[in-house]
Amino acid sequence: MAANADKFDLIVIGSGPGGYKSAVTAAHLGARVALIEKGLPGGTCLNQGCIPKKTLLHLATLIEDVNALNGRGLIGEVRGDFKAAMAHKDSVVASMRENFPFWLKRLGIRVFNGHGRFRDARSVIVEPAPGSAVNNTPQIIHAERIIIATGAVPRQHPACPTDGDRILSSSDFMLGLNSLPDSVLCVGGGAIGTELGFLLHQFGSRVTIVAKSDRLLPKSAIPERAADMLERKFRRVGIDVRKNMTVTRADVDTAGVTVTFSDSSQERYERILVAIGRRPLTEGLDLEKAGVEQDANGFIITTEYLETTAHGVYAVGDVKAGPMTANAALHDAKIAATNAITGNQHRNNYHRVPIVIDSALEIAAVGLTEELADDAGFEPDAARANFAGSAKARARHDYEGFIEVVHDEETGQLLGGCIVGPEAGEQIHMLAAACQSDRGLWFFRDISYTHPSWCEELENAINPCTSEFTKSGKTIFRPGIYFSAYD
Ligand code: FAD
Repeated sequence: MAANADKFDLIVIGSGPGGYKSAVTAAHLGARVALIEKGLPGGTCLNQGCIPKKTLLHLATLIEDVNALNGRGLIGEVRGDFKAAMAHKDSVVASMRENFPFWLKRLGIRVFNGHGRFRDARSVIVEPAPGSAVNNTPQIIHAERIIIATGAVPRQHPACPTDGDRILSSSDFMLGLNSLPDSVLCVGGGAIGTELGFLLHQFGSRVTIVAKSDRLLPKSAIPERAADMLERKFRRVGIDVRKNMTVTRADVDTAGVTVTFSDSSQERYERILVAIGRRPLTEGLDLEKAGVEQDANGFIITTEYLETTAHGVYAVGDVKAGPMTANAALHDAKIAATNAITGNQHRNNYHRVPIVIDSALEIAAVGLTEELADDAGFEPDAARANFAGSAKARARHDYEGFIEVVHDEETGQLLGGCIVGPEAGEQIHMLAAACQSDRGLWFFRDISYTHPSWCEELENAINPCTSEFTKSGKTIFRPGIYFSAYD
């Protein structure tokens, strides 16, 4: 292990989920780690993304859940207080941010506050953050391995560039919006547009979501059935959804914005929220000094071991191509840090990484959709159950949603699936675990469930399929040492 104060086994640039998880994984492997952060500790995820969003959406969902039970044992309606909700969100984020340095210090990780840029593939120059009280001179630190985890920033829309006031990015929203707009246009029908749109609706804004595509949510991960169900709910609760449409012009004045759509219609909104994706953040890294190359879209090119075009330099999270979620960044980090410290042995596999959308419905998916499985050459079939038949859903008076388990019709191999309904983001872990097991569909039959529970619907979904397989005499998955009580 390295001994000098400026020499480390691993340098990590960026402290979002990709960065801190890389640092922590390497520290657990006994490595001496430096972590450089130029902004707020925790990155987008903690400060402008997952955590503030989840805090606010919990309130938004509670409003709906409680009001649905008004007259069914609860009395009275609840309403949201946007200003107080934003203050609550700030305190949640601040408390997590305060703990962050202590957590890293306990693990022996040395944190540098400043902008990191490559000197070469084995050393990084840290320019202290402006106004740094400790030291204002750049410092050079060295390591045999470096991980780039600098994330991404919101993409700009040519017809409505953000101004931080009337036209906001998701970061402007999270860091600066302190009063509820009367009306909002969300540009983009992906995860962020549908989540923040629902949130604003629940607190009382008039919300329109405009999507360039013919459906909501990413086709690469979420089945059409789930996207359609979300859209139907949006329409039912009064969120206006405009598909196959773009914004061609946005005229800002002192009272709001006049928006022109691609069908030439015009509408007034108090504010616009632009959520059309994010672009990798590599500015000022001096990647060329290390020999790190980018693709045509600016993403850092990596191998399946997450090593870049420079030997010993790795990239994780949003700055490289792949799903732009904290879930994927955390997955990358474990792989890249382990490879960096113990040699390239582990490959990334995004089929294993779930995605969750927290909107008017909670939607979680893992692996392949039926359409993608078909494209990949499988003979896909989907086993399904609706929560309308679930005892837990009935007890909670919350039964909109379904479970879809995608498997190969010939062998019962699990390929992926989707869950729409309460706690889908938790339930999906079970589906992910099943996909990674060698039991295929039989994984769900092997388990003993609590009753009533959401997860028991997984077994109800697959029962007809396993029963058919058993009768068919087809070659199916056989148990390993963890044999099932039923075989
Ligand atoms: P980031 O979290 O962006 O961190 C990068 C860090 O690197 C930043 O702190 C930055 O300051 C620092 N940095 C950049 N350049 C330098 C430099 N040269 N020197 C030093 N430091 C540098 N994902 C989910 O999985 N679940 C969710 O619920 C979810 N909700 C989201 C909601 C919103 C509104 C948004 C915007 C995103 C959401 N995401 C969610 C996506 C998730 O936040 C990102 O995918 C994730 O944060 C990416 O992690 P990262 O480590 O790659 O980068």
